[in-house]
Parts: sequence; C-alpha cells; structure tokens
Amino acid sequence: MKRNRVIFCKKVLCAGLALAMLLPFAGCGRTVKFTATGIAMGTMINQTVYTSGEDVTPEVTALLTQLEQDTLSWRLAESELAKINAAAGTEAGIPLSAEMQQAMTVLFEVSERSNGAFDFTLHPVVQLWNIDAWAAGEMAPEAQQSGAPEQESAPEVQPSDGTGQSVAQVDEPTTPIPTPAQVSEALSHTGYEALTLTEHKLYLPAGMSLDLGAAGKGIACDKIAALLEETEVSGAVISVGGSVLTYGSKSDKTPWQVGVVDPKDTAKLLGTLSLSGTQFVSTSGDYERYVEVDGIRYHHILDPATGYPADSGVSSVTIVCDSGILSDALSTACFVLGVEEGMELAQSYGAKALFVGENGQIFMTEDMREIFKETGEK
Ligand code: AMP
Ligand code: MG
Repeated sequence: MKRNRVIFCKKVLCAGLALAMLLPFAGCGRTVKFTATGIAMGTMINQTVYTSGEDVTPEVTALLTQLEQDTLSWRLAESELAKINAAAGTEAGIPLSAEMQQAMTVLFEVSERSNGAFDFTLHPVVQLWNIDAWAAGEMAPEAQQSGAPEQESAPEVQPSDGTGQSVAQVDEPTTPIPTPAQVSEALSHTGYEALTLTEHKLYLPAGMSLDLGAAGKGIACDKIAALLEETEVSGAVISVGGSVLTYGSKSDKTPWQVGVVDPKDTAKLLGTLSLSGTQFVSTSGDYERYVEVDGIRYHHILDPATGYPADSGVSSVTIVCDSGILSDALSTACFVLGVEEGMELAQSYGAKALFVGENGQIFMTEDMREIFKETGEK
C-alpha cells in the first residue's frame, strides 16, 4: 500500500492575528494595566486590560470556559449546541435560548447572503475531514507509533484551532483524506436552506447537525465586550484565537495596534491595523489548521458546494467590523468566496476586508486602506 508522508501543522500566533500590542504602561490617575495569557475554548487567549477597578482577566477567562461548556461546544454533551444536534429530527422543533436564537439569526443571514459559502450545517463534513484531530496530534494510532512527533515550538499548547506552531512528520499507513463517496455522503446531510428558524425554535431535519466553529470566537468577543461594559475597564485588547476585540481606549489615547500575520511566514507580520475604540477583528487563514498529503495542503475552511477545502485563490481574509460574530462569520465566508465576491459581501455589511492572495498580493476595501499599514511602509 502506498504510504503517504503526512505533515501536519498548527498555526502560529493566535489563528492568523498576532497582537502587536504597543501599549505603554498606564501612568495617569489610578488606571492600572493587567495582562494575562492562557488557554480557553481550545485556543490561546491574550488579554491586556486598563482599569481603575479590579483585575477582570480571570473573569474573562471564566466567561470563555463557560461559553464553550454551556453553549458552543458540539463535543460536550451538556452544551446547548450538542443538545440541539442530539435533538435533530424533533418534529415539534427545538427550543433555543435567547442567546442561541440571536446567534443563529445572524448566521442564517450570513449563510443566505453568502449564497451558502458560509454554512453552519457543515458539521458532518467538518467531522469527516477531522482536521482538528490531525492538528491536535490525534492521528490514527498506527500513525502516532510510526513517527515521533517533532514539536518545533510551544509543545504544551494543544488548542483545537491552535496557536504556536508544532510540526509533526509521520508515516501514515492509510490516507486520512476522505474518499469522494464519503464526502458526497456527508454533504447530503448539509444545507442551511433545510433549517427553519422561528422566534423561539429551530427545526433541524434528522441527520443534520450544526458547527459553530467559524463564529464561536467572534461570539466570545461580543460577550467579553458586554462583560467589560459592566466593569471599570476603560480600555482593553483581548484576542481569542483568530478573533480580537479592541475595547475603549488606551490611557494615552493612541490607537490600538493589531498585527495581521503573513500567511507565507506565520512568524512574521504582514502589517498592522490601527484601531480606535471598540472593534472586532477576525482572520481566517489556510495556515491555521491543515494537513499536507503528497504535497497537497488540505486546510480547515471548507467549500460547502464541494465538501473540499475552499480553493478560491486566497490564503487569508481579515475582517474588521462592529460585531464579533459577524467579523468571524464573514472572514470564513469571504475566504470561501474569494476576493471579488468576498469584497462585495463584506461591503454589504459595512465591514472592512483585507484579502491575502495565494501569491501574497493584498486586496483591500477602501476603508481598510485607511487603517492598514504594511510592514516596512512609512
Ligand atoms: P474560521 O477559522 O473562523 O474560518 O472557521 C473555520 C472552522 O469553521 C472550521 O474548523 C470548521 O469547524 C468550520 N467551517 C469550515 N468551513 C466552513 C464554512 N464554509 N462555513 C461554516 N463553517 C465552516
Ligand atoms: Mg470565522
């Protein structure tokens, strides 16, 4: 049997965005700066918070853990999403919490307006590809035995959509790539058009299931912003994997600086976004989670039309807007759509968009040009 050489990687620097936090120490009045780094929702969390009150960073981390456990995780049987998936086929409909109802309304609309490039019913296909497991080193047992994983950095971090980079080379006895028949079988259980969303209920046909992986970190940023509103925090920049929240202002009133990773060399920044006030940034990139088999890179952003990794000519998309869930969902949708249609979709939402093409070319909406500075640019 042919043996494929499999190289699997995890991304560097928080799912496509590195925080270039050019933050001065808070010097005036009683404002104090707190920083924290940790893991929640299977990804790296970086927090810098300015407050005249107490350190809220532990509260933010606890909020993220709770959000994953209670609401978003399809893996944890007790979460709302897992219960929804388990109830697929319920003829009377599945009751939704207000929070889930709100999220699904936004995501249903992004699915429609992107002509299905974003599709949160893609879960059967996402599970089939199982790229999360490859990235986390959960290969088939034979594969794990046959090659000693070779961690390049941050080996202790095993996030589901990763930070830091680890590279392992293994000889895989059976190809991890699903067959076309498997892909089309899984695809037959997808399609957001089959859902009906009413004010309090979701009608999810039997055999279908939902995945909020493309929007969950953005939802988290929305929740963090709401939490900060209840505190004495005057400014914060918090990254949850590839989604970043800038909140309020720094003590010296200079803009927040958020870096955009170079997809060709994820240790480098392609440039920096200059952001004022409360804003949400999300990046989707083909370098975040992927597996390479026979020189072909299979990444984690799937085209719902084919069931295969999207091949739209872009390596990453960064979206800036005033909603976390939208920035996250749009970055995924725009990645699948490619530059032309993606730009249109982003603009129709009033969102700023930056696309990095496969050859490294940068395409931006006009309003993105005003806030993005390429590395080395004066
Ligand atoms: P992101 O990194 O935000 O672009 O989200 C990618 C994750 O969303 C994947 O790991 C899947 O769980 C899921 N996903 C992949 N492709 C799509 C898609 N076209 N629409 C919705 N969710 C997707
Ligand atoms: Mg996304």
